[in-house]
Amino acid sequence: VYLGYRFGNLRRALRERRTLEALALREAQAAANHDHLTKILNRRGVTERFTDLRKDRREAAVTVILIDIDHFKALNDNYGHDYGDQVLAEIAGVISRNVRGADLVARWGGEEFVVVCAGIDRRGAQRVSEKIRECIESYDFGDCGQITASFGIHWSNAPEAELPQLVALADIALYAAKAGGRNCVRLHRPARKAA
Ligand code: GH3
Ligand code: MG
Ligand code: MG
Repeated sequence: VYLGYRFGNLRRALRERRTLEALALREAQAAANHDHLTKILNRRGVTERFTDLRKDRREAAVTVILIDIDHFKALNDNYGHDYGDQVLAEIAGVISRNVRGADLVARWGGEEFVVVCAGIDRRGAQRVSEKIRECIESYDFGDCGQITASFGIHWSNAPEAELPQLVALADIALYAAKAGGRNCVRLHRPARKAA
């Protein structure tokens, strides 16, 4: 009886340990895939999720929207880095609240964000971008007044295209948005055979 009791205890302890280890692993993975400041996916996280999305979906069409805050350096210089951090977190929230649940929202780096949408066409992508752009423009950030962002879109139906490639193409459109006066949305139109 005693041995049976001891054995039961050992089994229970082992089960608990395994559960705790699995939980710790899941937490570590979530931390590695998310940006600690904004709580959204980081570059690594979105790249991983993009691969999953490609596997899950039969349709190849995917849209990448690259969002870059306008004159963010000046905001940091005028209001401080902590204030800038707070703005980044709030903008991440604005973007997340204005996309569908299945879309991916990530901090690509610095003051740049990426949205990945599957199953929409170019017009849909422009509509989503405009909506986010307007929401940022009209958001009350407090002391610093209005903040705006510029948007570059790349729509692709090339099933083999990798996320960094698509972001690089969206970046071309983003450059055009910056050159076009900022606070606007531009679409990258590839040559016929490009990604
Ligand atoms: P543009 O309209 O051309 O995009 O101008 P910009 O000032 O936004 O662009 P620039 O690339 O010159 O500056 C980006 C700034 O973003 C500089 C950098 O210090 C700031 N930044 C990057 N990461 C962070 C961060 O995590 N927190 C804060 N507060 N600032 C950051
Ligand atoms: Mg930038
Ligand atoms: Mg910027």
